[in-house]
Amino acid sequence: MQLQPTASHFIDGAYVEDTAGTKIDIIYPATGAVIGTVHAATPAIIDQALNSAKAGQKVWAAMTARDRGRILSRAAAMIMERNHELSVLETYDTGKPYQETSVADATSGADALEYFGGLAATLTGEHIPLGEDWVYTVREPLGVCVGIGAWNYPTQIACWKGAPALACGNAMVFKPSETTPMCALKVAEILHEAGVPAGVYNVIQGMGEVGAALVTDPRVDKVSLTGSVPTGKKVYAAAASHMKHVTMELGGKSPLIVFEDADIENAIGGAINGNFYSSGQVCSNGTRVFVHKDIKETFLARLAERLQNAKLGDPLDESVNFGPMVSESQMNIVLGYIEQGKAGGARLICGGERLDMPGFFLAPTVFADVTDDMVIAREEIFGPVMAVLDFEDEAEVIARANDTQFGLSAGVFTKDLSRGHRVIGQLEAGSCFINSYNDAPVEAPFGGVKASGVGRENSKEAIQHYSQVKSVYVRMGDVEAAY
Ligand code: NDP
Repeated sequence: MQLQPTASHFIDGAYVEDTAGTKIDIIYPATGAVIGTVHAATPAIIDQALNSAKAGQKVWAAMTARDRGRILSRAAAMIMERNHELSVLETYDTGKPYQETSVADATSGADALEYFGGLAATLTGEHIPLGEDWVYTVREPLGVCVGIGAWNYPTQIACWKGAPALACGNAMVFKPSETTPMCALKVAEILHEAGVPAGVYNVIQGMGEVGAALVTDPRVDKVSLTGSVPTGKKVYAAAASHMKHVTMELGGKSPLIVFEDADIENAIGGAINGNFYSSGQVCSNGTRVFVHKDIKETFLARLAERLQNAKLGDPLDESVNFGPMVSESQMNIVLGYIEQGKAGGARLICGGERLDMPGFFLAPTVFADVTDDMVIAREEIFGPVMAVLDFEDEAEVIARANDTQFGLSAGVFTKDLSRGHRVIGQLEAGSCFINSYNDAPVEAPFGGVKASGVGRENSKEAIQHYSQVKSVYVRMGDVEAAY
């Protein structure tokens, strides 16, 4: 199977190739086979993309917001019409099962384009009366925004960054992860088919150094990164030295707290969604599952039983619900953590190994009797590894849940809603859940506190991060001056 993209880059409304850039193989994670290649952007390609974005942004910002919104809404409808084809592509790019990609990737990208398309014409300023004078404000675009994506949700990330950026009148240069280069090209193609002018949404390929070159370029006004905390620190520092706006969507090690009165089947469902969806490659996952000691063994027994229904195999088979790791190197990182879990004395409930089949498949893995100091309880693993920790007391579990550098998400399962709100109110996290886990509708702000990030994606909040306010003082009378 070959899925060779038309060309490596999409610049100024058209596919562009430059084979002088480093060759990047596109590997299908379910088989390990090379299914295509792209080339990293050369300095000439980076230059071309930024010049085109600079020019395209002026054309785009001069259009009415309503017209911009209509184009984004059209792109959303086109994505929904092509959902099957885009979902298959997402599966080839990431290895995630079609059962997931057909409902969670292109569709959530379309949600963002439709939502921000609808918001575009509502982005107005304020009138502030000051006696006979007044101030009015104008919400203006930032200019050229750079989006840098992780590999777990390539279509969604391209849209979650592109939709609010474009709704506010910015242009974007998007660099996907080198591991998943294909989906963002399709997003660019569809946006332009829908009527986005040339240069407004560009995609260029490459490794970290292409991202780094974009971040420090003087033509760039804002950088939005989805990636790990170490990369985030580098990108944030580089952007700060040029005083650029940033959004940082980074990693996590989020707590999911299951109280003794929780509906146990729902809590297990939340823990499954929050650890094994996309084979655990989700930033907001609740990978530290604190289970009250009174229900721990029941929880573990039933969890192990339900995990037997995970069906691993060909991700394009619609009955398969568990795919491979995105790459051999990510699989090896996760296997390393599994070994540390075993060596550290955690009790392996299930999984814990690579499966004897082609591709990069790991079995869903659960460790119990995990303690706070174990590496598997402290570091982001980004794979299908759940750590179950015991607790007895509400105040104790809150303190332990917050004892981490991360703060992306948190969840609480309890039938006592007062306790649910009280506990969530004390957890240091940006995206929280009561009796649920990992829902991410476009209407809800998404993002982290502490080392997990800066800024918010989705919802009206994202508008603050892709626009700036100009205030204009208007004097009606004479100007008084001292001399
Ligand atoms: P990385 O941090 O390794 O990479 C993220 C992106 O940044 C890639 O495109 C990468 O390029 C690029 N990059 C690397 N170095 C630099 C640099 N110095 N300057 C500019 N760009 C650079 O993350 P992964 O791709 O491995 O993704 C997994 C991480 O992403 C996890 O920590 C996960 O939690 C986080 N994540 C966060 C989300 C959120 O919304 N909070 C959502 C999804 C994932 P390349 O890799 O191609 O070399």
